[in-house]
Amino acid sequence: MAIRAEEISDILIKEIEGYQPDVKEQPYGTVIQVGDNIATVYGLRSVRFGELLKFETGQLGLAMNLEEDTIGVVVLGTDSDIKEGHRVESTGRISEVPVGDAMLGRVVNALGEAIDGKGAIVTDATRTLEFTAPIVPERQPVHEPMTTGVKAIDALVPIGRGQRQLIIGDRQTGKTAIALDAIINQKDTGVLCVYVAIGQKTNTISSIVEDLRRYDALNHTVIVAATANDPPSMLYLAAYTGCAIAEHMMYAGKHVLIIYDDLTKHAKAYREISLLLRRPPGREAYPGDVFFLHSRLLERAAKLSDEMGKGSMTALPIIETQLGDVSAYIPTNVISITDGQIYLDTDQFYQGIRPAVDVGLSVSRVGGAAQIKAMKSVAGPLRLDLAQYRNLAAYTKLSADELDKASRDQLTRGERITAVLKQKQFVPMPVEKEVAIIYAATKGYLDELPLNSVERFEEGFHTFVAEKHPTISSTIKEKKAVTPEVEASLKEALTAYVKQFKATLS
Ligand code: ATP
Ligand code: MG
Repeated sequence: MAIRAEEISDILIKEIEGYQPDVKEQPYGTVIQVGDNIATVYGLRSVRFGELLKFETGQLGLAMNLEEDTIGVVVLGTDSDIKEGHRVESTGRISEVPVGDAMLGRVVNALGEAIDGKGAIVTDATRTLEFTAPIVPERQPVHEPMTTGVKAIDALVPIGRGQRQLIIGDRQTGKTAIALDAIINQKDTGVLCVYVAIGQKTNTISSIVEDLRRYDALNHTVIVAATANDPPSMLYLAAYTGCAIAEHMMYAGKHVLIIYDDLTKHAKAYREISLLLRRPPGREAYPGDVFFLHSRLLERAAKLSDEMGKGSMTALPIIETQLGDVSAYIPTNVISITDGQIYLDTDQFYQGIRPAVDVGLSVSRVGGAAQIKAMKSVAGPLRLDLAQYRNLAAYTKLSADELDKASRDQLTRGERITAVLKQKQFVPMPVEKEVAIIYAATKGYLDELPLNSVERFEEGFHTFVAEKHPTISSTIKEKKAVTPEVEASLKEALTAYVKQFKATLS
């Protein structure tokens, strides 16, 4: 019998045309490997990036790697109960957290669950962890101050509502202290705060909560904590959880300050996850998208346009450097994403110049627009005086009497200004007081005082002004400028108080 090729191909074509696919998608997948909080799941097809998956044990996982046959899932919480062969279901939900005013005053984990022992938080809303940042027409330029109450920052590296300002420095240089002062200073401003603790020790976090409570700042703050003992997935998520909570408030027209303490540990957690997911490592073994990790987070901070409700989210990410190296991978990334940085210097910190803000390396690219006129007018001469002082101090190791008078005067002025910019922790200062004392220093009223008496002078001066010249504060507060009348009163107050103070010296 002859084989006719056309006949066979006709049959084949008919068969193919009449073919009815009869494959039903499995509603669940199977764990084929699990360890280090990462599970590889086979058989689940239509899963989206960032979707929540549910394991047979009831635990949740986050779909992070979508490959052809398998999904890399980051287990949220411990993975010890999950075994190979376990079923995994998709939930259809992109991961989300509870948000809303009920979170204020509470401490939550990276999933938004209360961990402060005060019972579950009942909120009326949830929000996805990932959200596209507002686009340009939805924003407006930063124009309102977000004062920290820290003199050196409000004068020299001002922060505006909606700005992203990096706090960067080695370990133990007062990074967290600045963030906490900024939170405490928002007490009466209506700005709500979110403090995200990433990878810190449990007792550090509890002392932070305690400090905030003690300074009456807990009620306007949400604390999101993923401790050093938590798996990297929680550290990774905590930043987005905090952001979602803050974002909800911003879109509701409120002003929010969010602190990420710190993004170095966040990047490390992400690196750990990525290596376990077998993503190709790049520079410093970080995955290629680590820049995107932080940019998509910080881009969500914004000052919204009037149509969008005028809300704002100010972000203060913190980065820890090693031996002051700002050119390492993660620091350079975050420097380039933010609108400026507050650089804290270890040497200054140990010399007792605290907060250890290095005024040469610290910049604010947009905050000047948000400074009130009064601060702007006194901060101009301050910057100039300090720059001249640092120049001079850097290359003069000569004793004072070998210098000419002009240089000696500059040194004296610089030392007094540096002393005035020192500030203890937990005493954020209202902007009127900041303006008054900076005015005193830059106009030379402190030049004749012994350096070690400047702190005492400042304290006494504020009390003196409050008692004898209350209009100085009230006018600056109201007019936001150093009006000629204010300047006249300041001069009068300073002349009188310097005289009175000098008499107590001898
Ligand atoms: P880490 O790298 O451990 O997170 P950090 O850079 O966040 O440290 P802090 O914890 O804020 O630093 O501060 C370190 C220490 O310095 C703390 O004991 C804190 O109380 C103290 N300190 C911070 N700022 C000041 C200040 N302005 N005046 C006096 N002490 C301060
Ligand atoms: Mg810290």
